[in-house]
Amino acid sequence: MRPDYRIVFLGTGGGRFVTMTQRRRTAGIRVIGDGVNLHLDPGPGALVHSIEEGLNPQRINAVLVSHCHPDHYTDAEMLIEAMTRGMTRRQGLLAAPRSVLEGSDSCEVSISKYHQQMVGQKIEVAPGLKFEVSSITVLTTEARHTDPDAVGFRFETGLGDFAYTSDTEYYEGIAKYYQGVRLLALCVMRPSGKPWKGHMSTDDAIRIVEETHPGQAVMTHLGMNMLLRGPDKEARLIQEKTGVPTVSAVDGMVVLFSESLKVQTEKGQKDLTGFL
Ligand SMILES: [Zn+2]
Ligand SMILES: [Zn+2]
Repeated sequence: MRPDYRIVFLGTGGGRFVTMTQRRRTAGIRVIGDGVNLHLDPGPGALVHSIEEGLNPQRINAVLVSHCHPDHYTDAEMLIEAMTRGMTRRQGLLAAPRSVLEGSDSCEVSISKYHQQMVGQKIEVAPGLKFEVSSITVLTTEARHTDPDAVGFRFETGLGDFAYTSDTEYYEGIAKYYQGVRLLALCVMRPSGKPWKGHMSTDDAIRIVEETHPGQAVMTHLGMNMLLRGPDKEARLIQEKTGVPTVSAVDGMVVLFSESLKVQTEKGQKDLTGFL
């Protein structure tokens, strides 16, 4: 049997107002399985919620940061300290775009040079770049966001692929990065009818899902407007318009990525397809 992966939605909130109020957690996503223990976009709360969920941060072997906004990077330094045994061992991988590692016109360096030089491997990512994290090949995808260096990630496994768009607006050609994935996690900050340049609304998500037709879509990184509207309703809208099974993630939700997709929430375990 092929080993499977757990995709843990440690946090499902995004944007300034959800972050400052913690209406949803902003801890990012953890991927665990077959030699991989990877933390994606560790926003505020990543360290605390890792520990509270029983996911030892000292087991992490890769930290991936998609761009230089605080809801994506603030706990990265703490996770690097955990990953390197308190900065005593040069180990683990850090992958992030130039804005995060070097700073840019729009932001300062997000992760200190002190932390950057302690990891085993540091990769400056840009769209199209591929790298390995143990059993997973990661393809860096293009995000068009207010950080011009922002990226998303596609994870290629022996069981098929899953992907994370990060913060991006819809653009012509985005579909080529996500074609054929079994699961697509979209950072849908805004509800339908509330577009925002550089960000994704439900209407943008519908276009991306229509063009890529993943096996399953998951809405995450939900902003305040989205929470006020009701993310489950918006997920149903995506599902109705595209025919692709779609759920809105909740904090602590775990997707078991194996031959089938199963979802575990506090309410119990279900097959993901048709979860609504
Ligand atoms: Zn964000
Ligand atoms: Zn952002």
